[in-house]
Amino acid sequence: FSPWTDPSATPFIRFENITKRYGDFTAVDNLTLDIYEREFFSLLGPSGCGKTTLMRMLAGFEEPTSGRILLQGKDLSGVPPYRRPTNMMFQSYALFPHMTVEKNIAFGLEQDGLAKPEIKARVEEMLKLVKLEPFAKRKPAQLSGGQRQRVALARSLAKRPKVLLLDEPLGALDRKLREETQFELMDIQHTLGLTFLIVTHDQEEAMTVSDRIAVMDKGVVVQVAAPAEIYEGPNCRYVAEFIGDINILDCAVTENAGVCVHPGHPPLVRLESDGMKIAVEQECPASNGAKVAFAIRPEKVRISLDPPVETDVNTAHGEVWDIGYLGDFSVFLVRLDDGRILRAAQANVSRLVDRPITFGDMVWLTWPLDGGLVLTR
Ligand code: ATP
Repeated sequence: FSPWTDPSATPFIRFENITKRYGDFTAVDNLTLDIYEREFFSLLGPSGCGKTTLMRMLAGFEEPTSGRILLQGKDLSGVPPYRRPTNMMFQSYALFPHMTVEKNIAFGLEQDGLAKPEIKARVEEMLKLVKLEPFAKRKPAQLSGGQRQRVALARSLAKRPKVLLLDEPLGALDRKLREETQFELMDIQHTLGLTFLIVTHDQEEAMTVSDRIAVMDKGVVVQVAAPAEIYEGPNCRYVAEFIGDINILDCAVTENAGVCVHPGHPPLVRLESDGMKIAVEQECPASNGAKVAFAIRPEKVRISLDPPVETDVNTAHGEVWDIGYLGDFSVFLVRLDDGRILRAAQANVSRLVDRPITFGDMVWLTWPLDGGLVLTR
């Protein structure tokens, strides 16, 4: 499922040069973004980057200062929230405490003047969807946080919006429940074939649920891509550091002549970082002397007690300074001979290794030509 790779596909939602100012503060800055039908799309970024503002403009709670929002090609300017085919679910859930679960779900439908049998049928359908049938007669106070969250979801979906907007929907849940609920949300989105737009500052959450993620910073979108693409190919330092764990070294380009040393591979770029020489195979526009960053994920750095062999082009030597045991893998903080710290992650696949690497060990770090990335901004 990847309609965004099809140049003839028309976007379902289009934010077109959207700017939102509050006084002289610019919360969203000339932002253009396309979202496709049936996408699970995340707006990801730190607090204050404009995610919620963008979502509220789509819902109609705020008007853009300039720019247009199109839904299925139709300009939404001036359309009030209740006339838009969107529905927003908030972190606080905002359930009515004195009403039962089924009444909470039915409320919006009653307001819309739907016929009683239709309301009953939809409430039943929604209770089934969120697996809350046995709880229909309970009040919110008699439910767990996760169950309340599902009532709120059922209520938002009962009106059959074309787009469901979720503002930090899982923020109030503990970690385990949050992870479970992420999969439930994906399941429900698949079942209903709806477009989901979620706002989150939790990168793991965005990676888990999304078809695509827009990473935002100070009112602009910095990168839009599928989770794996963002993780493996961040387009700048900001995205690289925001998503997952990464080593970043300030470097200067020493050689970038567009020469391919391995047929079929990208050209070789040579870098130097405070005396450390690094070689990368990558298409890269930076010229000699340019200041760039070299970024490499810890799991791409191999750690070994044995010295490198001839084929190991990128090497560093240092002492194991700290070890984070994370169950499925361990992260080693290695203090290099020049004092810098590099992180290497290793899967804990077997407990039968000859000698595990431990604190104080002198180790070699190595990584391949395609292990890391040159970032020019
Ligand atoms: P969070 O994750 O904390 O909700 P966010 O990325 O969703 O952050 P927004 O709520 O969109 O951020 O806010 C973006 C910026 O706009 C913030 O600096 C905020 O203070 C400002 N802002 C939002 N609403 C208003 C308002 N009504 N008046 C003035 N400034 C506002």
